[in-house]
Amino acid sequence: MSNKEVNFGIDNALKILGVTGLNEGSSIGLTNFSSGEIIESFSPVDGLLVGKIKQTTKADYEKVMEAATSAFKTWRTMPAPQRGEIVRQFGNKLREKKEALGKLVSYEMGKSYQEGLGEVQEMIDICDFAVGLSRQLHGLTMHSERPGHRMYEQYHPLGVVGIISAFNFPVAVWAWNTALAWVCGDVCIWKPSEKTPMCGVACQNIAAEVFAENNLPEGISCLINGDYKVGEFMSKDTRIPLISATGSTKMGKLVAQEVAARLGKSLLELGGNNAIIVTPDADIKMTVIGAVFGAVGTAGQRCTSTRRLIIHESIYDKIKTAVVDAYKQLRIGNPLDENNHVGPLIDKDAVKMYQNALEKVVEEGGNLVVEGGVLSGKGYESGCYVKPAIAEAKPNFMIVQHETFAPVLYLLKYSGTVENAIDIQNEVTQGLSSAIMTNNLREAERFLSVQGSDCGIANVNIGTSGAEIGGAFGGEKDTGGGRESGSDAWKVYMRRQTNTINYTTELPLAQGIKFNL
Ligand code: NAD
Repeated sequence: MSNKEVNFGIDNALKILGVTGLNEGSSIGLTNFSSGEIIESFSPVDGLLVGKIKQTTKADYEKVMEAATSAFKTWRTMPAPQRGEIVRQFGNKLREKKEALGKLVSYEMGKSYQEGLGEVQEMIDICDFAVGLSRQLHGLTMHSERPGHRMYEQYHPLGVVGIISAFNFPVAVWAWNTALAWVCGDVCIWKPSEKTPMCGVACQNIAAEVFAENNLPEGISCLINGDYKVGEFMSKDTRIPLISATGSTKMGKLVAQEVAARLGKSLLELGGNNAIIVTPDADIKMTVIGAVFGAVGTAGQRCTSTRRLIIHESIYDKIKTAVVDAYKQLRIGNPLDENNHVGPLIDKDAVKMYQNALEKVVEEGGNLVVEGGVLSGKGYESGCYVKPAIAEAKPNFMIVQHETFAPVLYLLKYSGTVENAIDIQNEVTQGLSSAIMTNNLREAERFLSVQGSDCGIANVNIGTSGAEIGGAFGGEKDTGGGRESGSDAWKVYMRRQTNTINYTTELPLAQGIKFNL
């Protein structure tokens, strides 16, 4: 596929999404404004300009916050199922614009077009989930210890939810948060990654259209743009009761401190260092598919990417040969061309981190069995394309303990029982996704037991990469402890209130206390 074809497709997509020319980075509904400096977004696919956007200044931010605060007063009084109806309409708009948005995601972020479409599908799926949820935001009722009293709990919206998102899921992470927050009665202000700002504007346009068509206040959906400094406007702002932040552990620790200092709530979705344990009873074919897709999919830039394969010594050589052979078949190139398996890294800084990881693993005594390297020449002009690499390493290497956001897979050997593999799996600081490949029931159950994986996600005979929206998504330890998307993750977007009603003419005190006046 030539650059011309890519750009022809992308130009159309940008037009459909209303993001051509210079865009304003601050939006309240369909009203766009900004007075900050210009950010240029370059595609890692071909190095060309995707679009320009003006950053949000503190004065712009104040305008956004005022609109959001005011919109909340209307939105919170609308019955939740009616809010669900708005989210249903938003999901339908996404269905209409799926191809255009999928293409923009692929072009601005660098993931394959199929993955771009998959990301938009996740947005649609969470909308469907949220619509159903809008009729199920229920609390419990309890028996009161006092006669003639009724006790129950209910959930109320929090207010303005601040969403800070990472470059690698430039649209889905926002939707996971916002679709739930909206049905819960919250309004949202979103700061997308400064590396994928055009995706943010495109999503804002789609959502804002729905709110405008329903004559709802514009401030329900707000967008701000810029780097960490703009993110800090929100993390420090006492008017925002919840900050949902997705990104690196370094970012999460900073945001968590800012939010905790003002006793706000934070929902943190941070880095992972995900492993697949391969036991002597593993299905080799399934293991190879799971490991290779997990390690090289999205060029290793998923929070759930497979970074470590912990293989039993008895099948180590067999698995190593099979995975190395599979890597020989990988095609690296333009992600909009569906013949390619691996696209570019997000930018040249990411390429440096990849190169640094390969140097470090060798310095620490590792052995590169698939060497990797940076690609240059025709089709690779952006300088962001790298070859997926595999290194034999030891679990305690510093670099193995670290999340390198690139396609570098470490092969680690274990001996003895599955407990030893679980120890290796758990000894990193991150705790997002984990998997075991085995047909042995005892090993699988041990892995899932209280003595097993310490991650938020633990899979059997499925890789680490990706997740369905129906389950709560997130991880422990340095991954931040947050949960979003399915199950009861909605509760974080609401405040719980316990209510006791006395329908008698007496006022009995709890615990039988007498207070005679
Ligand atoms: P990043 O931490 O560099 O940036 C993420 C976002 O945080 C950006 O919008 C950035 O502007 C903002 N930010 C950075 N510092 C901030 C600060 N001090 N205050 C407020 N905002 C700040 O991450 P990235 O490079 O965009 O994304 C890759 C990382 O994200 C990886 O570590 C990956 O594992 C993680 N990630 C995690 C999940 C998850 O669900 N656990 C999902 C996607 C990505």
